[in-house]
Amino acid sequence: MKSLTFVYAVHSNLYINLTNRCPCNCTFCIRHNGDGAYGSDSLWLEREPTCEEVLAEFDKYDMKNIGEIVFCGYGEPMERAEDISCIGKELKKRYPDVTIRLNTNGLGDKINGRPTAKLLEGAVDIVSISLNSGNREDYNKVTRPKWEDSFEAMLRFAEDCKKYVPKVMFTVVDVISEREINESKAISEKMGIPLRIRAYDT
Ligand code: SF4
Repeated sequence: MKSLTFVYAVHSNLYINLTNRCPCNCTFCIRHNGDGAYGSDSLWLEREPTCEEVLAEFDKYDMKNIGEIVFCGYGEPMERAEDISCIGKELKKRYPDVTIRLNTNGLGDKINGRPTAKLLEGAVDIVSISLNSGNREDYNKVTRPKWEDSFEAMLRFAEDCKKYVPKVMFTVVDVISEREINESKAISEKMGIPLRIRAYDT
């Protein structure tokens, strides 16, 4: 079923679902398991919302009670990199005390055919990038991206983000092997980007 749920609350956070487009097909993607996340309505969008529609949704919430605003989507938010920039900057103006996070596969540069980290400057406080594995071969197996060189592009994007965003972090899901976890830790240490190992949500 399709809907127009593009801003939804989970606990004290508000999530923004901008798009269903994504150049990957991760083996662990929650989109394989159903229509929504954490009890939300269907996150398959009838159509993508405009920036104005997204911003208008925030009038419905008491922002004093909101911990984080998160661009995550049922798809890859950086498919709409320019719109993240506009929406994020406007939300920062309206709610300067609320933290804004972007959850991304880190392939914004490949998707948009140009460097994109600078667009995040002043728009988000935290970028959380799916590292997914510690090497190209296993990354390609688990992420199944459109481009062979996605792993390297994702690492370059992460390095770039350090220039423009106060906090950058990597994540892996705990379904990967111990060897890959150790390789991921080594990348994290070498790049100075913290790694979060998260539990697989079914
Ligand atoms: S990058 Fe995210 S939305 Fe895309 S397939 Fe992987 S988990 Fe799903």
